[in-house]
Amino acid sequence: MYKYKEVSPDKYVLSLDNHSEIVEAVSAFCKEKDIFAGSILGLGAINEATFRFLDPATKQYVDKTFSEQMEITNLTGNISQRPEDPFVPYLHIHITASRRDYTCVGGHLLSARINGACELIVENYNDAVLERYFDPETGLNLYKL
Ligand code: FE
Repeated sequence: MYKYKEVSPDKYVLSLDNHSEIVEAVSAFCKEKDIFAGSILGLGAINEATFRFLDPATKQYVDKTFSEQMEITNLTGNISQRPEDPFVPYLHIHITASRRDYTCVGGHLLSARINGACELIVENYNDAVLERYFDPETGLNLYKL
């Protein structure tokens, strides 16, 4: 699903395999390396992606799938853990992607299928513990800092 190289202590450069799904591949890498606190940065190209929008008024998620070739102009994410699932890296990723006409769409990333390449930097904060809790006021899983 991916190739990687550790470029400095706790910092990895990843190249995800063409046609793999980004969230699945990054989750697998974090599991392999036991990364439960960290950050993700990336770019690439995709042709099928589902983004999520949280409506703050209703606290309901609205998902939308885009089936077209797009450039990932930015992918930013973080890695943490939830006390109810402490051994599963919890990924929170947002994405902006540009279309053929150079307009952009984006949102919270649910899934994205690579069509071309996807290059990422994953940083492991190592022994830091970054947990989350559900905040009923916002409907979000927030950092417990
Ligand atoms: Fe989000």
